[in-house]
Amino acid sequence: MSVKNKVVVITGASSGIGEATAKLLASNGAKVVLGARREERLQKISEEINNDGGQATYKATDVTKPEDLKSLVELAKSKFGAIDVIFNNAGIMLTSPVSELKVDDWNKMVDVNLKGVLNGVAAVMPDFTAQKHGQIVTTSSVAGLKGSIGSGVYGATKFAVRDLMEVIRMESAQEKTNIRTATLYPAAINTELLKHITDDNSKQRMDKFYQAVGITPDAIARVVNFAIDQPEDVNVNEFTIYPTKQG
Ligand code: NDP
Repeated sequence: MSVKNKVVVITGASSGIGEATAKLLASNGAKVVLGARREERLQKISEEINNDGGQATYKATDVTKPEDLKSLVELAKSKFGAIDVIFNNAGIMLTSPVSELKVDDWNKMVDVNLKGVLNGVAAVMPDFTAQKHGQIVTTSSVAGLKGSIGSGVYGATKFAVRDLMEVIRMESAQEKTNIRTATLYPAAINTELLKHITDDNSKQRMDKFYQAVGITPDAIARVVNFAIDQPEDVNVNEFTIYPTKQG
């Protein structure tokens, strides 16, 4: 079973990596179910996909709310009859030095980047376990592989999901549930991610860096497509994606 006809739930689908992935997967025949908070953006993307001959539906979703993720998965099943893949992609990057003690930002990142992924996993696990088939793709970051200045708490959330995905992979093999996991470690990708940074110094530094080296989110969409497209007995599970210009 390739990308074609797979039912894929995507969080963070209203912009950036999620939007690019939804469009690419749909153009290759996947049925995509879009979730994020900005409903009007989801509606527009969904319409674009459907007008181009693809199949998409959407629902306003806050990944910090477990019931929202459950509803999104229910929508996938009621509209398209199944769920094959969840792409846990919603995330926020509110970088600042730890010494600034931006505790509100820390809590938001833990809620979206870590608990949001846990809520996605919890929403699909009963179906994936029962049907002995499913794939969990999660966007971590190069900040989840190596610490960098300003990324202390952001990186902590991204390290955490890396571990979670690896353990799900191992437990699935042991429990013979055939659940595949793929974890993405993107570097500088030009999206709306930097818009929300509250620390001026961090924002300026990141803006300058991204302008110099950043690449488009289609790069990540192609990798997700590749991971989903593998045969069921092949789990390609970790991808680091750098702009060629980024050192
Ligand atoms: P964007 O800001 O363009 O996209 C982030 C997405 O997450 C939006 O669709 C946003 O939608 C959604 N989102 C944020 N908070 C919530 C929430 N509470 N509930 C539901 N959805 C939410 O940035 P990217 O596309 O770059 O980010 C996607 C992922 O990629 C993130 O996990 C990010 O950490 C990761 N990443 C990005 C890199 C980059 O350089 N761009 C590098 C490494 C990792 P809405 O606001 O409508 O809810």
